[in-house]
Amino acid sequence: MTEPSIPYGRQSIDESDVDAVVRVLRSRMLTQGPEVAAFERALAAAVGSSETVVVSSGTAALHALYAALGVGPGDDVVVPANTFVATAAAAVLAGARPVIADVDPETGNLDPDSLERALARCDRPRVVAAVHFAGRPCDLDGLADLAEAAGAVLVEDACHALGSRHAGGHPVGSHPRSRATVFSFHPVKAITTGEGGAVATDDVELAARLRALRHHAVLRDGDDDSADAGAAWRYQVAGLGFNYRITDLQCALGRSQLDRLETFVESRRSAAARYDAALAERFPELAPVGDAAEPGARSAYHLYVVRILGPVASARRRRRAVFDRLRADGIGVQVHYVPLHHHPFYRDRFGASADDLPGAEDHAGRGLTLPLFVGLTADEQARVLERLRAALDVTATA
Ligand SMILES: *Cc1c(COP(=O)(O)O)cnc(C)c1O
Repeated sequence: MTEPSIPYGRQSIDESDVDAVVRVLRSRMLTQGPEVAAFERALAAAVGSSETVVVSSGTAALHALYAALGVGPGDDVVVPANTFVATAAAAVLAGARPVIADVDPETGNLDPDSLERALARCDRPRVVAAVHFAGRPCDLDGLADLAEAAGAVLVEDACHALGSRHAGGHPVGSHPRSRATVFSFHPVKAITTGEGGAVATDDVELAARLRALRHHAVLRDGDDDSADAGAAWRYQVAGLGFNYRITDLQCALGRSQLDRLETFVESRRSAAARYDAALAERFPELAPVGDAAEPGARSAYHLYVVRILGPVASARRRRRAVFDRLRADGIGVQVHYVPLHHHPFYRDRFGASADDLPGAEDHAGRGLTLPLFVGLTADEQARVLERLRAALDVTATA
């Protein structure tokens, strides 16, 4: 398939990013040097956590987090059906069973009612992973009450939500009732390091475990009863770790990008507001997932998702026809997501059933993602809307 001329998302790189990477290329250390810690400090300041641990991808961050929380065989990790497969795959990698929860059909987010129903299907709930779909923050207080009562730890998969804010203006990454927050720096996300990810937390011990897991569970200062104890070459491995290290090249890029996070979010929010205005005026058959509703909260608009209204069976047929027409016109629409329980691995291995997930079925049947990225021009947006209007008109009776 050829690349759409307007993609659904892409990175924004400028000369300051190029310079930051080139500086590291000319330095002595390409990995495990000073840029890693510098990026961690800058990121912690931006998201309002006391610690961040940066790793090689968002998926690595999720896997290391579940492992660091002690998740293992016999444990259940609750994940929403409407997410990228990594949220659940990382739980399987940690030895746990993913229990797939329903979502609010309008926001695509895990909500307290859906979580309550999912917890009732758990044997041993250990972790609840809330995904802030499209950047719109979940109701974490409601989720935290239920997770706590069930004895589970609440964490956030905020791969869509770097730069989003919870109610009261608190940055995603700083919520007092979630133990840890995961971010991704893939090129379509809010900022990029090429590939990369992070865990933000206020739990200093958890951060130390994550740093060890990132590098083969190596401990430099563990109990050492060898005759060589104290020698400079000694290190100890007391568990199973990974190579989830991220390079200084990537962290220099990440820090440079992070300097523009607020500009990036403002740019996405302005483009989203232009879509909102056009939808309200000219697209009565569409409803956007929309901005955060609580005072002080905001979406960083990782994605701009619209739902095609009407009975879901006809919305599904119409979505297919509209999608194909827009793609043929070079407009990079997408669908987020094929829900977890539609993938054979999760359906067959973990018994996820559409009957338990009516909200996710509804959302998955009618959602359509429009192009949104930093640098999307008003002209490009007008073209997206013009083609979308035309595609909806010819499919009105589909
Ligand atoms: C992107 C993403 C991930 C995985 O991040 P990678 O950096 O691509 O490994 C996990 N969860 C969600 C919701 C994502 O959007």
